[in-house]
Amino acid sequence: MTKKKEFILKGIPAAPGITSGKAFLFGREQHAIPRISIKEEEIQNEIRRFKDALIHTKNEILDIKKRISEEMGIEHGQIFSAHLLVIEDSMLIEEVVSKLKKEKLSIEYIFQDVLRRYIKVFSEMDDEYLRERISDINDVGRRILRNLIGAKEDILSDLKEKVIVIAYDLSPSETATMHKKNVIGFVTDIGGRTSHTAIMAKSLEIPAVVGLEIVTKKVESGDIVIVDGTHGIVIVNPSPKTLKKYEADRERFVAFERHLLELKDLPCVTLDGRKIGLSANIEVPEDLPSVIAHGAEGIGLYRTEYFYMNRKDLPTEDEQFKAYSAVAKRVKPHYVIIRTLDLGGDKFLSQLEVPHEMNPFMGWRAIRFCLARPDIFKTQLRAILRASTHGNLKVMYPMISGLDELRQANAILDEAKKELKKRALPFNEDIEVGAMIEVPSAALTSDILAKEVDFFSIGTNDLIQYSLAVDRVNEKIAYLYEPAHPAVLRLIENIIENGHKAGIGVGMCGEMAGDMTMTLILLGLGLDEFSTSPITIPEIKRIIRSVNMEQAREIAKKAITLTTGKEVADYAKKRLREVVSDIVI
Ligand code: PEP
Ligand code: MG
Repeated sequence: MTKKKEFILKGIPAAPGITSGKAFLFGREQHAIPRISIKEEEIQNEIRRFKDALIHTKNEILDIKKRISEEMGIEHGQIFSAHLLVIEDSMLIEEVVSKLKKEKLSIEYIFQDVLRRYIKVFSEMDDEYLRERISDINDVGRRILRNLIGAKEDILSDLKEKVIVIAYDLSPSETATMHKKNVIGFVTDIGGRTSHTAIMAKSLEIPAVVGLEIVTKKVESGDIVIVDGTHGIVIVNPSPKTLKKYEADRERFVAFERHLLELKDLPCVTLDGRKIGLSANIEVPEDLPSVIAHGAEGIGLYRTEYFYMNRKDLPTEDEQFKAYSAVAKRVKPHYVIIRTLDLGGDKFLSQLEVPHEMNPFMGWRAIRFCLARPDIFKTQLRAILRASTHGNLKVMYPMISGLDELRQANAILDEAKKELKKRALPFNEDIEVGAMIEVPSAALTSDILAKEVDFFSIGTNDLIQYSLAVDRVNEKIAYLYEPAHPAVLRLIENIIENGHKAGIGVGMCGEMAGDMTMTLILLGLGLDEFSTSPITIPEIKRIIRSVNMEQAREIAKKAITLTTGKEVADYAKKRLREVVSDIVI
C-alpha cells in the first residue's frame, strides 16, 4: 500500500482547539433506489407508505426539537421548526402523489426524483435565504427517504469510536445528534462564520473548521486528519513529524486554556493600572455559562436576531422581555448591550417576506429594516426597556450610516417609552443608547454621531467588508479581508478620537476585538472596551495585563504609519511576541 501524502486545507475557523483522529465521511450515503414499476392497485398502498414515512419523520424531528430545546435552549430547538415546515409543504406532497399516480413507479423513486428537482430549482435561485432552505429540504428529504426504505440511520450518535466528522454541510439536526464523546472535531465544505453549524460548534466547544470547499472530495473515511479550529486549518494524512508537532500544540493549547482560566477573576487592567472593559458577545442566552466561566465583565454584544430565526411567528414583547430580563439578572451588576434586530446580510428570518436583493449586505438590512417596520422595532425596544429594570441594560443600533437614521431610531425609542408610560410599566428612563460604527460613512462622521449617543461600538466585521469592498462571507476573496489594513486602522483611530472628544466610551464588538495580534494596537489607539467570544476572553486579558499604556501607544503610533496590511500584521505579531513571549500566534 502506498503511503498517502500529507496536505493542508485552509478554511474558516468555526470553533477553537486542536484535535486529531480518524476521518468519518458523513452524509455521502446514497441509497441506491431502483426504478420499479408498480400496478394501478398498488398506488394507494404507496401513498399510505409515504404518509407513514412523513408521520414517522415528523415525530423524529419533534423528538429532536424537544431534546435540543431542553439541552441547548429554545433558540437552537427552533431550527427544527423550519424542518417541520418542509414536511408540511403541501406542494411537495401533492407533487409526489400526482407524479406517483401518473408514472406508476415506486414511491421511493418518485420521492427522490421530486426531491432532487426541488433542490435543483432552489440552488439555481442563487439566494442566501433559499440556500439555507436547501439544507433544510435536504436534511428532511434524507430522513423521509431513510424511513421509506427502512434503512438504518447513518447517525452520528451511533459512532463506536472517536472520529472527526467530514461533511459537505452539517445540518442542525445532524449536529444535534452528534455523540459528543465520539465526535472530537468536525469540518465542512460549506458554511461561514455565522452559519448555524459554526454557532453550534462554538457552543459544543468542539474544534471545527467550515467553508473548506473541497474537503469531502479530498478526504476518505479512515484518513487521519488534524483539525486546528483556532486557525481554520485541516491537515490530511499528516506525517509522524506533523502529528507530533500538533500533539504538542494541542497539549500546549489545553494547558494554556487551563492556565488562562486562572485569570478569570483578575481585573482587566494594563500594567500601569488602566482599566479596560472586557466583555463577551452572545447569540443566545444559553451562551451565558461560558461567558461567566471565561470571566467576562458583561455582554458587549447580544445579537438578538437569533431570536427571530427559524420560527413561524415573530417573538412577542413579553417573550423578549422575559429573555432579556433573564440575561440582565444573570449578568448584573455588569452591563448587557442589547443590539436591536440586525436582519439581512447573511441573516434571514424565515417568517418575514424579505425580497431577494442583488447586494443583501448593502440592502434592506439592520436599522434600515427596523425603521421601515416600526411595529417590529418598537416591540423589541419596549421589551428591552421593560427588562432594563432588572439589570444594567443598554441598547445599541446596528448599521447606522448617518445622523438622520440615528435620530429616527431615537424617535422610535421615545415613542416606545411613551407607550410604556401609558401602560404604567416601569423602565429605566436613562437607558444608555449606543450606535454600532460599522459603515464607513458613520466612521467618517463619528464626530457628529458621538454628540447624540452614549457610546460607540465598532463593528469591524462589517466595517472591514464595507471599507475594503470585500464580501465577508465569500471565501474566494478572503485574502483581501484584512483587519490590519491601514484604511481600517485609520477609520478606527478616527472613531476612537471622535468618541473621546465627545466624552463617550468606544468599544469594539467585531471579531477584530478577539484577534490577539491586534490587541496592542487597539489598546494603544485608545479603545475602551473589547467585546469578543467567551473563548478568546482570557487571552485578550492576558495581553492587556502584560503591557503599559505608554508602550501600547508607541506600538499603535508606529503601526498607523505602516503602508500595507501585511506590514501592519507582521509588525503587530513581532511586538506582541516581545510583550508576551510565550504567546502562540
Ligand atoms: C460587526 O459587523 O462587526 C458585528 C459585530 O456585527 P455582525 O457580525 O453581527 O454583523
Ligand atoms: Mg455588523
